[in-house]
Amino acid sequence: MNAAAESISISPETRAFLDRKHRLFIGGNWVDALSGETFPVIDPATEEQIATVQLGGPEDIDAAVAAANKAFKGEWSKMTSYQRTRVMLKLADLIDQNIQTLAELEVLDNGLPMMLAQYTIAGYASEFLRYYAGWCTKIQGDTIPVSPMGLPNGETLTYTKREPIGVVGAIIPWNAPIAMFVLKLAPALATGCTMVIKPAELTPLTALFMCELIKQAGIPDGVVNVVPGLGHVAGAALSAHDDVQKVSFTGSTAVGKKIVQSALGNLKKVTLELGGKSPVVVFPDADVQAVIGGAIRAAFFLQGQNCMAGTRLFVHKDIYQQVIDGVAGIASQMKLGPGLDPASQLGPLISAQQRERVLGYIQSAKDEGAELICGGSAPDRKGFFVEPTLFTHPTQELTIAREEVFGPVLYATSFGDTDLESIAAEANKSIYGLSGSVWTKDIAVGLKMAQLIDSGQVSVNCHAAVDPAIPFGGNKMSGWGREFGKEGLEPYLKTKATTVIFSNPPM
Ligand code: NAD
Repeated sequence: MNAAAESISISPETRAFLDRKHRLFIGGNWVDALSGETFPVIDPATEEQIATVQLGGPEDIDAAVAAANKAFKGEWSKMTSYQRTRVMLKLADLIDQNIQTLAELEVLDNGLPMMLAQYTIAGYASEFLRYYAGWCTKIQGDTIPVSPMGLPNGETLTYTKREPIGVVGAIIPWNAPIAMFVLKLAPALATGCTMVIKPAELTPLTALFMCELIKQAGIPDGVVNVVPGLGHVAGAALSAHDDVQKVSFTGSTAVGKKIVQSALGNLKKVTLELGGKSPVVVFPDADVQAVIGGAIRAAFFLQGQNCMAGTRLFVHKDIYQQVIDGVAGIASQMKLGPGLDPASQLGPLISAQQRERVLGYIQSAKDEGAELICGGSAPDRKGFFVEPTLFTHPTQELTIAREEVFGPVLYATSFGDTDLESIAAEANKSIYGLSGSVWTKDIAVGLKMAQLIDSGQVSVNCHAAVDPAIPFGGNKMSGWGREFGKEGLEPYLKTKATTVIFSNPPM
């Protein structure tokens, strides 16, 4: 780490974790990758290497899937739902007890500001486990009144059981590593599944730290296996594996399509949480100050590397200029810096490649005639920073209005006095349908617009309300299925129907 980053101190626990050898976690043991290959982990705020991690390949995925299969049939399958609840609650407590180390690792690995890292851990990851820990004891089937083979009522019984689907492969992105890890882990543990998790190659550290906590929580060996590796190698091997019964994927739409193809071999079940290009629709009666703060958070949370980001801002003409001036005023004053610095409001992007990609989108908007209101450049400093950027243009005929930028770039436009259907048609002009928000004091307008917006989740007077109990997932090319809440258990379960006949059927 360089001098600037060292001057912002990290705890001895974090330092000790960074300095140790980072291996694969298979069958409850730390093991080297069979190839012996490694890859570097880079702090995006300093561009310095902070750790070296063993690079898992297809043969390591095989070993991890075998360990998960063994665990699925072993001690884990005998544990009662109360015992599963207890180990999950213990893991949640361990996360809270280790929040400083987890947050520092997340900041160094991903770049997000410390306050947000702490929020995603204490306000989200551990609560997510507690929420699903409560479900362990409530997963149950039905009894169904049936009369097979002409038997009279009362002569048969049919009941269904909800069973764990088996070994789950979880493939996660780099934009919110610990949150993604836990949101795949919690429903899998609650339902009695076992897992192989492949973290993103850019951000493997908190996933590896979590393995220590999983062991301490008393989760049996092999229930959770973690294999860091490259997407097109380890990720592809996991999604194609015949002994994996379900893949839970979060990442880009392009890779999501590949996952679907890989799953064809054994027709494993697939859930996909993919990209977004979410609208923020503001009516003239909205609270302008709330809109300005909300639009900033919607667009620039996690430096805009956020699938739910509200990156298309539609504002009624009567308050358009006020909102644009307010957003630009705050965005142009935001302090960019390493997440470990408490003064930083916006961290770096994840990598040099991501910064170049985002700068390419900014250039495309300039070339296509959009008006640059603020930002638009990468500051001349170490780290993969890009200024929070606002463009306006009268129509959505811009690449940045169509494609997911995954960086701090907001596009804004205005609308006049027109019907809600026409406004919704503009808001829905996207291949994506993940999130969206409506801002108004008129509850009827808010709810009607929420109904018209074609996305898996819409918020009124806030953007992207997230809670473990709120179902989350995308319409259109934003994905398949839902995570979170009761619905989030479904993909991890299969139903078995059993029928008992009390007497011989009349022949
Ligand atoms: P990505 O698709 O490049 O990678 C995601 C994961 O897939 C990584 O672990 C990667 O190693 C792996 N992967 C890559 N190629 C693979 C392959 N051929 N087979 C199997 N696995 C492969 O996405 P990213 O750049 O890490 O993340 C950004 C994307 O994720 C954005 O599009 C964003 O919208 C999306 N995302 C969606 C949600 C959501 O909940 N909907 C949440 C966060 C991020």
